[in-house]
Amino acid sequence: MKHKTEKLVIIGSGPGGLTAAIYAARGGLNPLVVAGREAGGQLMLTTDVDDFPGFDQGIQGPELMSKMRKQAERFGTRFIQEDVETVNLENPPFIVKTENHELRTKLLIIATGASAMWLGLESEQRLIGRGISACAVCDALFFKNKNVIVVGGGDTAMRESYHLSKVCKKVTIVHRRGKLRAQEALQKLVKARSNVNFTYNKEIIEFIGQSKLEGVKLKDTQNGQTSNVPIDGVFVAIGHRPNTGFLKGQLDLDEKGYIIVEDGVKTSVAGVFVAGDVSDHKYRQAVTAAGAGCKAALEAEEYLEKLR
Ligand code: NAP
Repeated sequence: MKHKTEKLVIIGSGPGGLTAAIYAARGGLNPLVVAGREAGGQLMLTTDVDDFPGFDQGIQGPELMSKMRKQAERFGTRFIQEDVETVNLENPPFIVKTENHELRTKLLIIATGASAMWLGLESEQRLIGRGISACAVCDALFFKNKNVIVVGGGDTAMRESYHLSKVCKKVTIVHRRGKLRAQEALQKLVKARSNVNFTYNKEIIEFIGQSKLEGVKLKDTQNGQTSNVPIDGVFVAIGHRPNTGFLKGQLDLDEKGYIIVEDGVKTSVAGVFVAGDVSDHKYRQAVTAAGAGCKAALEAEEYLEKLR
């Protein structure tokens, strides 16, 4: 176990964490980023990013994250490629523990983002990775020329369906209501694909198959009738859950686990700031996370000035 004392530790290496690192490094806070074993956040699982300002022809998610990381490194940011196991925020210096490090720090920025949610069925647990996925970019090629279902009616479901429609034979979007929640532009994009169709007012109540997915049992949410549908793959795209398990009892969280903030980036503990999806269940964009990262770094700098 290595013991280190730091001025600022940033947990998370998505757009929020890395933007915080760029600003903090330029502001002389010499940040250390605990990047997580799978660094880069959700954009690492995204292909075309067309809405991040400054890239008129779009950019691939992993390339954007690589550029942000290099930019942070250019100003002296250091990285640890480990997950945080526990934090103690009782009194400063705060303690952040990873597998191989115990870090003490006066300032902390939490930017751990959010992860995909599952339906929570027993049969789902058994078949995740065996026909069930939550990441089209990662797993679409396993379903080349096959038939898949995408569950959900939001932006994520549309993005996943669009990506899958380029690879799969047929994509069926199964939504529990009669109306999509997704933004108009994404709906249009998906509806223009000839191999995508929509099944409304239906939910999956069981996944069929023992060691490999073979089908699903659908229930009509209006009349309760059930039917079995054979299918090669299911992509669950029903939203995200904030990665705050390690913060329970340390910071104020809302009922869904999001960090409660004041002025966008301040938490219930002085000296601990937040950036990105870990406190934002509404906008959840790379650019809003980056904006929050900038604010968190500037607030951290101001807080340190006041302590002096
Ligand atoms: P979301 O907007 O919360 O949508 C989740 C969808 O899944 C809803 O249609 C919901 O149904 C459905 N759902 C939730 N729980 C379910 C369950 N247990 N069983 C069946 N269906 C269930 O989540 P999201 O699509 O991940 O988007 C979250 C945020 O990220 C949004 O603000 C979105 O704009 C943003 N985002 C943006 C982009 C982009 O390209 N700009 C891409 C992805 C996400 P109901 O509609 O009935 O509630």
